[in-house]
Amino acid sequence: MRKLENKVALITGGNSGIGLATAKLFTQEGAKVVITGRRQEALDQAVKEIPGEVTAILADASDLDANKAAIGKTVETYGKIDILFLNAGIAPFAPIAEITEEHFDELFNINVKGPFFTIKEAIPHLSEGAVIIGNTSVVNQKGFPGTGVYSATKAALRSLSRVLANELAEKKIRAVSVAPGPIDTPIYGKLGLPEEQIQQMGASFSEIVPLSRFGSAEELAKTVLFLASDEASYVNGVELAVDGGMSQV
Ligand code: NDP
Repeated sequence: MRKLENKVALITGGNSGIGLATAKLFTQEGAKVVITGRRQEALDQAVKEIPGEVTAILADASDLDANKAAIGKTVETYGKIDILFLNAGIAPFAPIAEITEEHFDELFNINVKGPFFTIKEAIPHLSEGAVIIGNTSVVNQKGFPGTGVYSATKAALRSLSRVLANELAEKKIRAVSVAPGPIDTPIYGKLGLPEEQIQQMGASFSEIVPLSRFGSAEELAKTVLFLASDEASYVNGVELAVDGGMSQV
């Protein structure tokens, strides 16, 4: 039997990288999947690539009304939500001296405020035994220069999942996080950094990751599948690092 038979999953930021790989794996495992994204063209392309039952909804992660509408459409289409994967996120870096209010607000609106209110809207529709999975990052356990605001957004998401694990326990809802280390996805092209600096960053990651390589979106997706499935039925409140050992040594 497939691991997510009869499950309904909503994945934010499902047109690229980790979200897209997870959507593909989830449908292969029998789930009906809804992906959100901020670009219609990218969503249309993702729908072509994802095998099985998938619905794409245009919704900017920082737009609370759009997120509410996405929850409504998911429930209208599939009747419930069993898996909520809050994956959409951005990671522009800036040293503290250069941080602007705009940088701060953009990161917090997309990485924190959007997920908070998406969860709030989803709660009445989450089935008993549902799972909420936040995509955090190893940065919330490290002190990498230039990641001040980004790290803070991921720490906020990680904290929220601890609280949810308690608040939603009555409905047997689990709340967990996955914390990727360096994963080879298009996000590195969206950091606003020159190519040379991205190459340097990649080389430095190889030095501090015990497995000496980037992870793949597919490796992340397999971990998210574990957390979403009944195999993780007693795994709750945890943040699971998928980082080749980077945060552990
Ligand atoms: P990608 O850029 O490939 O995927 C991010 C997804 O989120 C894209 O679909 C992107 O859309 C979407 N997204 C971003 N902003 C918004 C928005 N405002 N509204 C709707 N969708 C949005 O990167 P990853 O797959 O690597 O990132 C996924 C998550 O993993 C992020 O939360 C990231 O912080 C986290 N992470 C990634 C790491 C890595 O090394 N890759 C390490 C640690 C954490 P669009 O295609 O339009 O940009």
